[in-house]
Amino acid sequence: MNIIVFGAQGTGKSTYARYIAEKLCVPYVYSGDLFRQMSSGNTPLGKKIRDYVSQGLLVPDEIVISAVIDCLKKSDLSNGIVFDGFPRNLKQAKALPTDIDLVIHITLPEKIILERLLKRGRSDDTIETIRKRLEIYSNETAPLLKFYQENGVKIIEIDNTPPIGVVKRQIDDLLKK
Ligand code: ADP
Repeated sequence: MNIIVFGAQGTGKSTYARYIAEKLCVPYVYSGDLFRQMSSGNTPLGKKIRDYVSQGLLVPDEIVISAVIDCLKKSDLSNGIVFDGFPRNLKQAKALPTDIDLVIHITLPEKIILERLLKRGRSDDTIETIRKRLEIYSNETAPLLKFYQENGVKIIEIDNTPPIGVVKRQIDDLLKK
């Protein structure tokens, strides 16, 4: 099954995306981590990615799409895949070479999102970049739900207010179906 774990920054979606990938024994593609790795070196591309990430901006689509496609080429897709943080806009969604069977939308009230992100303490988690990223999320990423809905993809919404263990049990039930 090809799954997108979808949701705003700070909702905790990566915790569940990783959990689902491990449970299904399928590759886990987390674009944020991909870019943190790519930007760790002192290459011109690394520096360029760092500039965007540190400002809370999306990395340009050409870079994102080629990085993800590269990653897919190296992965065994026969049992499915879990995407986390990708796609984040319509262009990326349309560039995805695999069909999507399920979108799991993790939600959390904005007040809790802000608290959690500020506590996380990552260098790109300042109040300014968080605001910018959430704004880009609502303008460019959230509309993808409509795109997938119109394309007949099943979308399941999961509220991440309860403790992690409770949410994981909900996900277990969902994957059994
Ligand atoms: P968050 O979900 O809090 O933004 P991530 O670790 O998923 O954290 O991503 C970190 C940063 O990497 C993003 O703020 C963005 O700059 C960049 N990034 C990740 N995925 C994408 C993507 N699909 N398109 C463009 N930029 C991305």
